[in-house]
Amino acid sequence: MKSIRIQMVISLFLATSLVFFGLYFFASNRLKTLPDLVLNQYQEIADARANELENEIVGMLNQIEMIALSNVVTTMNLSEIQPFLISVSKQQRFRNLTISDINGYAWATYDEYIDISNQQQYKEIIENGNDWAISYPFYSPFIDDNIPIITVSHAIKNNGQTVGLVNGVVSTGFIDKVVQSITFKDSGFAWIVDERGQVVSHPREDVTIDDSIDRITLLSNTNFLTQDHGNFLFLNDLDVRMLGVFATINHTSGWKIVLTINEEQAFADIYSVLNYINISLLVCLLIMFLFALFYAKHMSTPIFRLKQVFEEATKGNFNVKANESINNEIGDAGRSFNKMLTQLKQLTYIDPITGLNNYFSFLSELPRLHQSVIKENMTCYVVIVSIDDFKKINTIYGYEAGNETLRLFTSLINEQLKENEMIARYFGDEMILSMFALNDHDVQHRIQNIINTTQEPMRISNLEIHLDVRCGVAIYDTTSSIDDIIRQATLAKHKAKNSEDTIVFYDQLIDQEIQDLQALEAALEKALINQEFSLVYQPIVYSNTKKIKGYEALLRWNHPKYKNIGIDQIIKLAESNGMIVKIGQWAINQACKDLIMMRKDNLELTMSVNISPIQLRNSAFLTNLKAILDQTGCEPKDIQFEITEHTAMLDIESKRLMLDKIKELGVDFSMDDFGTGYSSLIYISQLPINSIKIDKSFVQKILDDEYSKTLVLAIITLANSLNLDVVAEGVETQEQFDLLVNMGCHYIQGYYISTPKQVHELLR
Ligand code: C2E
Ligand code: CA
Ligand code: CA
Repeated sequence: MKSIRIQMVISLFLATSLVFFGLYFFASNRLKTLPDLVLNQYQEIADARANELENEIVGMLNQIEMIALSNVVTTMNLSEIQPFLISVSKQQRFRNLTISDINGYAWATYDEYIDISNQQQYKEIIENGNDWAISYPFYSPFIDDNIPIITVSHAIKNNGQTVGLVNGVVSTGFIDKVVQSITFKDSGFAWIVDERGQVVSHPREDVTIDDSIDRITLLSNTNFLTQDHGNFLFLNDLDVRMLGVFATINHTSGWKIVLTINEEQAFADIYSVLNYINISLLVCLLIMFLFALFYAKHMSTPIFRLKQVFEEATKGNFNVKANESINNEIGDAGRSFNKMLTQLKQLTYIDPITGLNNYFSFLSELPRLHQSVIKENMTCYVVIVSIDDFKKINTIYGYEAGNETLRLFTSLINEQLKENEMIARYFGDEMILSMFALNDHDVQHRIQNIINTTQEPMRISNLEIHLDVRCGVAIYDTTSSIDDIIRQATLAKHKAKNSEDTIVFYDQLIDQEIQDLQALEAALEKALINQEFSLVYQPIVYSNTKKIKGYEALLRWNHPKYKNIGIDQIIKLAESNGMIVKIGQWAINQACKDLIMMRKDNLELTMSVNISPIQLRNSAFLTNLKAILDQTGCEPKDIQFEITEHTAMLDIESKRLMLDKIKELGVDFSMDDFGTGYSSLIYISQLPINSIKIDKSFVQKILDDEYSKTLVLAIITLANSLNLDVVAEGVETQEQFDLLVNMGCHYIQGYYISTPKQVHELLR
């Protein structure tokens, strides 16, 4: 995966580079022509200077021609010519004039006779037949002044016949003057060379006409001396690269004026312009690159930030916030993300029903809350608050009322919490709190206040609801894990639910109790295999005749260690871990087998078996029951199931179907412990019940307690009106028996008649 920033930098840089190189090639193509312009400029100067010199020379030539063509001279009469030439030479710029016959015998105006037959002009005019000639510079062999001279010569003609020649001797000074006047660009100068490569004029004093272009190293192959004009490169004495721009001086034998300049200097301006342009382009490139970097950073930084925020949120930190202030799509994305995060936070941390924090949020906040009070020497407590039998509120009043109750309940708790304390929904009807107090006593006091408030009757949509609240408390300290602390609080709460104390602090004893319970459970698990269960039977008699109508089968566990624990406690445990299903099935089977033995010829004798609603949840219950009936030979009408008004009976709809099927089979039902449960009356009308058993707690108080007496009478009246049989259990005395008979109770069960007996005692 490539980073978006790198991608942006690469693409921006590619784009800028492309633009840059485009510009660069365009510019450099144009700039390539610049050196030619410079060369042209130099060439123009060279041409102009060559012209200038030509004009001078032509001027001199014209003068010599005029002299040569004058009547005096054409006569070749020396005596006439001598004064003429002397006078002319004074007027003209010639150093002297010489007139020669065709043999080279000459007279000079400084009045000497000389032989010029070996001189260049003589050869050109007399021998080659040219009309005029300009010599190379040379030192006069006649005047020893070390000043180079040239001769400008013209033929003397008589009747078209060359009869002699006139020479004008000129010092090369006029050429030197022109040459020396040419300076440009600091080091620029000019020199003149003849077609042989011999120096004609040079501004440097050490370069004389004896020097030739051999002194320099031509860098171009072509010999410029053969060309009319142009340029060439050479190394001078000091090995510096020089540029020479030359032009031919017409009316000479082919002299060239060479403008010379240090190559670097010649093009210095252009190079500086070129450099300037190159540097500007480079600076542009750099700026563009920096801009690309800056832009990529500017554009990608918010994306990076957003990515960081995403990652933080993925790790579970929902307190991060994306930047919303950016005025583009990234800002939009940030806004959407924040919205999503808020919703996510709600979903993750907030319990939708109570609006409280949930357990997850509690776990993540707890260490922080603890940290916030650690300095104040306070102890942090984790409290689990549980509503007893909350399920019944949902079942009886509906979920909306249940939820409303939870909301009110939690708000009552919340009102009593201090800053930095926290309430969260734990599970269903359980809340978990973090509280701070100086000691156990203080926190207990505060929890008790909370319990007192929440146990006040609550008004929820015209209903008055009472809550029974239990609390388990554990101390939060960093030496134990949060899981451990919550486990401790949960154990304490369990204990609170099963004891008189509404607030239980976790201590090591609880762990011991748990271990004991586990040992008990393990023993119970083995009880069936070890055949440790047995049934005892207690008769139920007709109230008028005391004749035995049937027996109630009551379970016993013959375990050396646990036999003294009340069987109802064992049943509760078996219900809580599901073992009741197998135990209950065993009891039905055993009771059926024993009934067959017990009843002998009394076929009316019935067997009442206690069953737990947990057993009814098991879909195999009916099949198993049929199998038992088949195997034992009992008939359904011989059996009656006693069910208690257990909380598990509250969700009546799910049990109804099973009860109906059993009823269809022919088995009767009796409502056990009638009067102690919830809204018993509602259920008797809805369930297939044909008998009710008044709980022994009322029966036993029937003589002393007016309320119990009234209640028992009411139950009997109700049962009669509903056509149900009524059994009074726990009848211990004659007085109780008599009163119940008087009240119209149909059947009696209790120690007054008989304690529960083992089957072999009954068979005797
Ligand atoms: P229960 O169904 O109400 O059974 C009557 C209880 O009252 C029995 O206690 C019985 O021994 C006791 N009892 C009978 N007459 C008197 C009396 O005159 N005075 C007093 N004080 N008590 C009397 P037990 O056997 O300890 O059984 C306790 C509970 O355990 C039963 O209450 C029943 O709910 C449950 N239980 C017993 N056996 C089974 C069983 O096989 N299956 C199921 N699911 N529950 C059973
Ligand atoms: Ca019973
Ligand atoms: Ca009972």
